[in-house]
Amino acid sequence: MRSTAKCYSELRAYCEDIPLIDCHDHSGVCGPKYEDPIQVVLAGYFHSDAHSASSDSDIAFLEDKIRSLDERWPVLERVWKRTCHTGYAQVSRRVLKEFYGEETLTLDALKRMESNLLDLTDPQIFEGILERAGIVGRVLDIWPDTRQVLDHSLELTPRGVLAISLPQFHSVRSYTEVQQRVAALNRTITSLDEYLEACRQIFEGHKAFGAVTFKDQSAYNRTLVYGNPTKAQAEEVFNWLMADPRRSASYPEGVKPLDDFLFNAFMRMARDLDLPVQVHTGHMAGIRNDIVKTNAIGLTSVIELHRDVRFDIFHANWPYSGELLFLGKNYPNVSLDFCWANIIDPVYSQNLFKQALSSVPHGKIHGYGSDYGGSVDRAWAHASIARDNIAIALADMVDMEYLDLDEAKDVAYSWLFSNANEFFKLGLKHAAPQARAPVVEPDVTLFSSSLKHEPEMAE
Ligand SMILES: [Zn+2]
Repeated sequence: MRSTAKCYSELRAYCEDIPLIDCHDHSGVCGPKYEDPIQVVLAGYFHSDAHSASSDSDIAFLEDKIRSLDERWPVLERVWKRTCHTGYAQVSRRVLKEFYGEETLTLDALKRMESNLLDLTDPQIFEGILERAGIVGRVLDIWPDTRQVLDHSLELTPRGVLAISLPQFHSVRSYTEVQQRVAALNRTITSLDEYLEACRQIFEGHKAFGAVTFKDQSAYNRTLVYGNPTKAQAEEVFNWLMADPRRSASYPEGVKPLDDFLFNAFMRMARDLDLPVQVHTGHMAGIRNDIVKTNAIGLTSVIELHRDVRFDIFHANWPYSGELLFLGKNYPNVSLDFCWANIIDPVYSQNLFKQALSSVPHGKIHGYGSDYGGSVDRAWAHASIARDNIAIALADMVDMEYLDLDEAKDVAYSWLFSNANEFFKLGLKHAAPQARAPVVEPDVTLFSSSLKHEPEMAE
């Protein structure tokens, strides 16, 4: 993947040397230890495209490790031929080439991989691949054990800082859930005021541990259109739950006044703690979910109400690019985050990077987030695609004389590193790389030649 713009090679080489902030990942532990070559191909998001191109039964068949590679290969080959050109498939292709030396997916390639599968449970190998990807810091949304956060015994995966995983705290639907959410404080909640105070204490504990942001992905399960109910309306639901521990509020109408009230209350806590709020918008992992409820434009009233809260809007709101550009242009407290989007749809991302340059202040754009749980081999591939996308978009803009090459390098540096470093107050010290001689053909070999640290690979 490359641009035909004259400056592309030089700009791509420059991008390769920029330290990368990974704005969003789910690596709670180092892993996995791959046990099946087909798992290497399907793992992560490509699984969804393979599913979309086949059927529930085909996917179950492919994942049945008891069956031999010979037996499963005809199904995988048929599926691969139908979906080998998506962004997710690009990730699998790059992983196969970089870590197994396989240019194409064949039955023989799978058999060769079998004796050489990566063991990513080793933290040194894990961090070695981060180094190879140039990832210097990661914001981790990992739903940790609250007790471990509060007593500081939680161990994060390499180069990670914590995000406060928010949805569970405002989606409570029963007495039991209320008590579970704040169980780490060893107290029994009896009122909405007590619950709010307990949540505040837990969030303060996260900040003391080093959390740099809130993160909310409620859009998987509910609309992003939050109302602004009164405390009395929320309390009515809460007290109804508390009056009988066997009750459960109905979804969505029964629980919405409480859910919406708590979300707004937590936005005030984010303001008071001076922490930004990352919000999942647009496409969702897996298949067969409802996209309408996840359009970032649904957040308008929340963004307008909470002007002192900085919102980091995720996944480039795929596929609603226009609404995202409007939000970024119109509201000082909105930043655009391309985490995950670079592989959901590389061409969408390239086009949106260009449009964002011409419509949204470039200091409000965060260019990369892995959005994997473990699978740092895929984070490496994802990072290489993100650098491609940004270099392609900016090289095209230089070619049309929208900006000059030095300006494009400044923008690339801000999108890959400095904007996120400042936004999340990570305090990472890195100077912009110096321009270097252009490489002739920036293909995947470029990554191998720029290794800063050679990780030990599983035999
Ligand atoms: Zn995520």
